[in-house]
Formats: sequence, structure tokens, C-alpha cells
Amino acid sequence: MKKPTNELGEPTLDPDDWAQFRATAHEVLDMSIDRLENAQDHPWQPVPSELKQRFSKKSAPSSGSPLSKTIEEIKTDIFPYATGNTHPAFFGWVHGAGLPDSLIAAMIEAAMNSNCGGRDHIAPYVEQQVITWCREIFEFPKGASGLLVSGTSMATMLAMVVARDKTNAGGLNAPLTAYASMGVHSAISKSLNIVGVGSKQLQRIKVNNDHTMNIEALEAAILDDISAGAKPFFVVATLGGVNTGASDDLRAIARLCAAHNIWLHIDGAFGVWTKCADDPWRDAAIGVELADSLAFDFHKWPSVNYDCGCLLMRDGDQHRRAFTERPEYLRSASHGLAGGELWFCDYGLELSRGFRALKVWMALKTHGFDGIGEIVSKNCRQARLMAALIEQEDGFELSFKPTLNICCFQAVFSGATNRELDQFNQEIATALQLNGTAVFSTTTIDGRSVLRAAIVNHRCSNEDIEQAVKGLRRVRQHLIESGPH
Ligand SMILES: *Cc1c(COP(=O)(O)O)cnc(C)c1O
Repeated sequence: MKKPTNELGEPTLDPDDWAQFRATAHEVLDMSIDRLENAQDHPWQPVPSELKQRFSKKSAPSSGSPLSKTIEEIKTDIFPYATGNTHPAFFGWVHGAGLPDSLIAAMIEAAMNSNCGGRDHIAPYVEQQVITWCREIFEFPKGASGLLVSGTSMATMLAMVVARDKTNAGGLNAPLTAYASMGVHSAISKSLNIVGVGSKQLQRIKVNNDHTMNIEALEAAILDDISAGAKPFFVVATLGGVNTGASDDLRAIARLCAAHNIWLHIDGAFGVWTKCADDPWRDAAIGVELADSLAFDFHKWPSVNYDCGCLLMRDGDQHRRAFTERPEYLRSASHGLAGGELWFCDYGLELSRGFRALKVWMALKTHGFDGIGEIVSKNCRQARLMAALIEQEDGFELSFKPTLNICCFQAVFSGATNRELDQFNQEIATALQLNGTAVFSTTTIDGRSVLRAAIVNHRCSNEDIEQAVKGLRRVRQHLIESGPH
């Protein structure tokens, strides 16, 4: 292919033919809108093994090829094989369903190509506005800081750095210990390893019957560790547990943390958005404002396109101290492009950063916090609906009454062993994924393998819930009739 050149014949990466480029881009935009408008026709589908092989074999392109050819390849080989979380009956893990307005934000973001680590341009002001809105909604104090990151995992790790530095600043040389309930997300132990404390230092506190952290057990563990010479430094309270949706008693945990001078981190990945929902779901968020740090995602319940999470920090100065390092090539100026008071590189590891804030800002403007709250309430009602339908089904046993948006249940058959049920439930999940009816994931609740729906899907209707339960019934019956387990 002829390489693109500018008017002087020098190489460039811009298209030679802008009119052609424009036509192609418009076509792709239409294709993308079609996909979202008809989201129900695009469930997950497996990537053909022939296609996987082709991707593993292709050699590096040393020369370029026409854009139109690449687009054709995207249409056949890439676009059809998404995670499927834009589908209205996608309930697996905790995946946001995406927003059409994020499609527009992605275009603008690409056109601006801002680097949001620092300097004086509009992006940091947009990001700060998003953070300020969240600070207000979640009732953090004025001096609080924040940062948009890839997700709750990254936010958790950064929070831990600040907590560790604060604790070590006291000059203590005792081993640090951290605390979280049995059901805590794996991001906590991974972060402990990254910040050099080690996941072995995590005390997994037993839970009550409702899967919330047992406060007496937490206190006992803290006191034990103190008397053994350790320094408790980090308690994770969960607001919306990944397995069950359970929310810890944030106020009780905050009191305990205050009494022992321990950092309180709240994992509110999806659950924090109950703060915007109706009663009774908003009760889960009572006490969220007491956190030293709060991690949550925009890409889950608010459905902002992947990826974007947020870290809010009560003490903005402490946050900044943990990450500011400005060598000569990053010096700021009083004015000019090197100006700007707020450089987000001072609040985390990333120096070069994209304009994640735009899609979030746009989503919040378009739908409002109330709009997100309505989806939270709807999805929590739908979890109740699913639970009620499951309770009426023969051959399914509900694991617990949903408190938020997560509904877990086990498909059973007579005479089955635990191992057989483990495999049976996995097979049901897989069969429903493969036939495009609905996506459930699996987990273990109270030692039993179960199917799990985590509903954070604004596209989901009550009809989708009913159809999914019918699909479960059909697949269970079919598997029982078709063979041994
Ligand atoms: C999803 C989730 C996480 C991890 O968040 P990412 O955005 O995937 O990094 C942590 N905690 C809970 C409760 C979650 O649901």
C-alpha cells in the first residue's frame, strides 16, 4: 500500500484521503449504534477456534494496509465476539451494560487525545468536577481528594499505599495487619502483596448468617494482633459484597477503627450506588461517609463504558504526599501549558492518563445521580423477582433472600452428590451462555456450588428475568434427560 504523506511528501500517519476516511468512520458509527439499538440480538457467542488460531499465528505487520480492509476484518473477526454484557439478560459477575452516550464520549476523547496526568487544559477540571460531585453525593468533607482509575482494584491498591505510609510514618516497626470479611474481593489480597505488606497479613473475619462481617470477631482479631505486637493498619468494610450483595455495618466498623486508630477503607465497587436508590436499598450505604478511603466503579452500576473506577480520600493532603514526586522535567509553571493547579499524576502512579473523566461526566450530566439510583432500585427489585420465581420452580433452591441485586440459587436433582451438583450447576450456566439465553456465573455460597445473577443491567426488563428463569428450567430438564451426572 502507498504510505500516507503530507503535502511535502513527508511521511505522516494521517489518511491521504480524508473524504474516504470520513465515509468509513460514519459507516462504523452507524454499525456501532445498530449494535446498541439492537442489543438483545447480540448475546455473547464463543470465539471460533479457527479464529483464535488465526490470531495466535498472525505475524507482525511490517507494512500498512488500507483502513477499509482492516474494518472488514473487524466486522467479521472482532465485533461479533464481545463479552456480551451489552445484552439485557447478562447477569454474570458484575458487568456494566454500557451506555450509548459513552460511544459519543469515546469519539470526542479520541479526537482530543488529552494526556490527563497534568498541565493546564480542560480535562483535569472535568475530572475534578466529577470527583467533587461524588464527594458531595457520598458526603465526604471538603478537603477530600479523588482520582479516576481503571477500577476498584486499582483504587484499592492506591488507598493501601496511603494507609501504609501513614501508619509507617509513626516510626513503628511492627508487622502490619489488615482485616476484611470472609467474602471480601480478591483485589484486597492482591493489593496487600503489591504494597509489600503481604496477603498473609490479611485476617479474614467470620461472617454472620446474613454474610456481613461479625463485628465482635473483628474486634477480637484486632485485640489479639495488638497484644501479639502487630500493628493493625487497614480494615476493609464491604458495601455490596461480590458474592451475596451483603453490606457490612459501616458505622460499627468505623467506630472500631476510630477507637484503635486504624484506616477504614470501604469497598463500594457497585454497592456505593445504593446511596442514590430508594428505600430500603439505600440503607446499605449508611455510614459510607465515614471511610478514610472509598473505592467504587463507574463501569458497573452507572454503566459507563469500560473502564473507569474512582478513589475518594478523606484526607487529600495525605493522598497527595503519598504520590507527589516532581523531577525537573515535570516542573509546573505559574502560567502556560505547564500551569494548572491540579496535576492528577500527584495522586497515583500513572503519569500518562487518558480522558476517562469525559464519559463519566457525560453520563452523570445525561442521566443524573437520580437516574442511576432508579436503575439500582429497579435491579434490586428484579433480584427479588428472580428469587420469587426461583422459589416457585421445582428443582431449584434459593440460597438466600436477596438484600440487594444479587440472587443465588442451586439447581438440584434427587440423589445428587455435592460434586455432581457442582458440575450440574456449571453445566447449566454454560448451556445458557452458549444458547444465548442469559449469562449467569457460578460461585460457592455456604459451601454449595450455586448459580449467581448480579444484576447491574439498565437494559434488563422484568420480561428478561422471566425468560431467563424459563431458560433455566428448560436447560435443567434437558440436562437431566440427556445424561448421567
Ligand atoms: C468488581 C469488584 C471489585 C473489583 O473492581 P474492578 O473494577 O473490577 O477492579 C472489587 N470489589 C467488589 C465488591 C467488586 O464487585
